[in-house]
Amino acid sequence: MIINCKWIFDGNTLHKDKAIFIKNGEIASLHLLKKFYPEAHIVDRDGLCTPGFVNVHTHIELSHLKGKLPKGKGFFPWLKNIIALRKMPISNKRRLDEAKKAINTLKKSGVAYIGDVSNTLSCMKLIEENFKGGAVFLEIYGKKHIPHLEQKTHLPLCPSPHAIYSTSPEMLLKIFDIHQKMNTPLSIHVAESTEEYRFVKKEGKMYDFLKTIGFLKELPPAKTPVQYLERLNIIDKNTILVHCVHITDEDIDIIDRRNASIALCLRSNDFIGAGFPPMEKILKGSINISIGTDSLASVDDMDFLKEIQFVFKKFPFIDPRFILYWATYGGMKALKINPHFSYPNFIPVESNEPLEEMLTESTEVYPLSSTSPENHPQNPLP
Ligand SMILES: [Zn+2]
Repeated sequence: MIINCKWIFDGNTLHKDKAIFIKNGEIASLHLLKKFYPEAHIVDRDGLCTPGFVNVHTHIELSHLKGKLPKGKGFFPWLKNIIALRKMPISNKRRLDEAKKAINTLKKSGVAYIGDVSNTLSCMKLIEENFKGGAVFLEIYGKKHIPHLEQKTHLPLCPSPHAIYSTSPEMLLKIFDIHQKMNTPLSIHVAESTEEYRFVKKEGKMYDFLKTIGFLKELPPAKTPVQYLERLNIIDKNTILVHCVHITDEDIDIIDRRNASIALCLRSNDFIGAGFPPMEKILKGSINISIGTDSLASVDDMDFLKEIQFVFKKFPFIDPRFILYWATYGGMKALKINPHFSYPNFIPVESNEPLEEMLTESTEVYPLSSTSPENHPQNPLP
């Protein structure tokens, strides 16, 4: 199949008025491709064509919590609220109905691959049926037992710790050990709030609360949440560090050195009022970046395009090609999916004002005719 589109993003360059031969990813003028591949079926589309998007971090089973949590009150009040809401009974039908709606929005906005965090695996079947690949992360809290997970489908089931304050150091080590043997991705929420920062210093509301309920025993000493994980030696190329809002220069060096991935969930950070990651500093290294929507408990909708546009709006100095790279190949790398241009995604630019602005900005800042991607200081290709 040859796709002829106004814009094509190939993981590096935004091509204007070109066509792509999907089988091998070759990009040239339609005229030339027709000549080389006369048998190929031709699809003419407007707008932007990209590989299928990768939503690296979400919690589909929490979709019924949409609109139930207060905005902008800070992380700790949000956490207390969600713990209380999750204890409320909900019928399986309602949970699945809301999950289906969330999945439909994700697919409509171009998501083909998913990194879904789950406690109950109640939406596993829906996820398998609707996404081409990715991973399902079974979230482990301070439990003593990690269940044996049978790998049945195209989505690996990966036990993953929720966060450093909810999973003991011993359990973190056990989970990491499993991942090393399985060579699968591991996802953990990290440095989402300043409270987590205080937690590793053994102070603050979160530390006091967990100590009162008898959850805490010995914590390894550390200056930051990332350094806490580093001290336990559990950051590697398969680790996805979700949020990374409150990270230091030293943390960024560790993440870079360990070849771990960061999952940005900026609209969720905005909803909670947690702050935003230090993008300018993060971009100085060569850290793999990916994008997630997080759940409907901390974002208004599952529209992945809105998530991408939010990154651009919040950090307009970032070349839009990077943001598109993070939304596709960055996500594939984080979830250990072989990079490829499959499940092409068509985004109607005309009817999508912020995206049009993003693309226009891109050509203005880096005219495609004169800027070869390899000359760019932040070339997103490895
Ligand atoms: Zn999350």
